[in-house]
Order: sequence, then structure tokens, then C-alpha cells
Amino acid sequence: MSHIDMRQFMCLEDNYGVIIHDSVTGATASIDAPDADAVEKQLKKFGRQLTHIFTTHHHADHVQGNAQLKEHYGCKIIGPKAEADKIPGIDIQVSGGEKFMWSNREIFVHDCPGHTLGHIAFSIPGEFSLFAGDTLFSVGCGRVIEGTLEQMFHSVNQFKTLSTSTYVYCGHEYTEANVKFALTIEPENKALQNRFHAVAAMRARGEMTCPTTIGEELKTNPYLRCDSPEIRKNLGMETATDAEVFAEIRTRKNNFK
Ligand code: ZN
Ligand code: FE
Repeated sequence: MSHIDMRQFMCLEDNYGVIIHDSVTGATASIDAPDADAVEKQLKKFGRQLTHIFTTHHHADHVQGNAQLKEHYGCKIIGPKAEADKIPGIDIQVSGGEKFMWSNREIFVHDCPGHTLGHIAFSIPGEFSLFAGDTLFSVGCGRVIEGTLEQMFHSVNQFKTLSTSTYVYCGHEYTEANVKFALTIEPENKALQNRFHAVAAMRARGEMTCPTTIGEELKTNPYLRCDSPEIRKNLGMETATDAEVFAEIRTRKNNFK
């Protein structure tokens, strides 16, 4: 039986915050720190002391709460070695392929270059959870800013090997716009059509559409479906590689209004 509790909340404009807490050891980690006041409000609400921050990448909307939270809680900050010089207060530097113990659990680190060059994701196989930052979104993926489209293809597609039951926690609530775009390239996908209606209803009620699951993403996320015959036909790329299809989809999304 798991003693881990995960609380996800919205902050800033469309960022997700997540606080994970082990009720046995008391260990409490914030996944990124988009907004220190919003994280502290959640901690106080549930009576928790922050022991760690897991940082996915250096963008301000993921690290700007680090300094305040470290000052108030003395928490340890674990983040990407490749961009350690840009992560305020970093204590422990990690890279893809490494694992470390947190509250008696193995946490795996995944390299995800593309959105930023040093971007990492964290997974806890024992809890069927992935914290993907701005790499994999629900029905989408992050904008390729520092790396190449080819790097982002591999960064996103590595998650296909995780258990389909894995919960995916993302950096932003972008699902509604992502589904609208995905339907333009794979309109006949029934699972995607169903997702469109479900997501529209959830957003109308002001609900969060994440966490999603790897299983759901495999059925609906175009960036994990570069081998879909329908997508390939619609893009006129029947004989292209999956990486080329990925690059075309991501490029079209940049121009999608
Ligand atoms: Zn970012
Ligand atoms: Fe972000």
C-alpha cells in the first residue's frame, strides 16, 4: 500500500503545481516551484513541511519559487546537472539514466532535451507516476526552444515504454488547445473525438484535465502517434520516418491558431 499523496493545483496563468507527500516519513516534495506563495498555501492547507523541490528545467515559471521556498523551509533542491548554473538554490545535480532514493522510493531521472537542452523528467515506477515538466503534455508536447526537433522526438517518445497505467503530471494545462490541434491532423481518431468532448466539459466546469495517463496519451497524443496511417496520409508523409512526421506535426502546431 502506498503512503504517497499527490496534490495537483493550478497557479500563475496555466501552470500546474504538484506536491507529493509520504504520510509515513513526512517527506514532501514540490514538483517545480512556479509560484512560491501558491505552493506555501497548499503546504499550509494540508499541514506539510517542504523537504525537497524536484526541478525539471530552468524556465522562470518552473524555478522562480525556489529561493523563497528554500528560505522558508530549508528544502533541498534536486535538478538538472546540465543547467545547474541556471537553477536557483540547486543542491543535488542529476542527469538522465540516474536514479536516487527519495522517501524509500526509487526515483528515475530522464534526459529530455528539446524544450531546453538540460530538461529532465522524474518518474516513480513504484507509484506509476511521471513528472514530465514541459516535455510531454496531455495530447501535446512542449515547444522546441533550445534543442532540435529530432531531440524532442526522442525525449517525448522514450515515455512510450512506461507502463500504460502511469499517471502523467505535466507543467501546464494546455489540453483543450492541444486536442483542437490534434483533431486537425487525425480527425477520424475516435479516442481523440471522445477526449475532445470530455476535455471541453471538464474545462467548462473549471476542472484540471491532468494528470493524464500514458495509456490515454498513446491513443490520443499525435506526438506519440507518428506511425498512425491516418496522420501520415493527412500530412502526405506515408514513407517518412517517425522523427520526420514528429517534426512536421510540431512545426504545424507552432503556426496553428
Ligand atoms: Zn518551460
Ligand atoms: Fe513552463
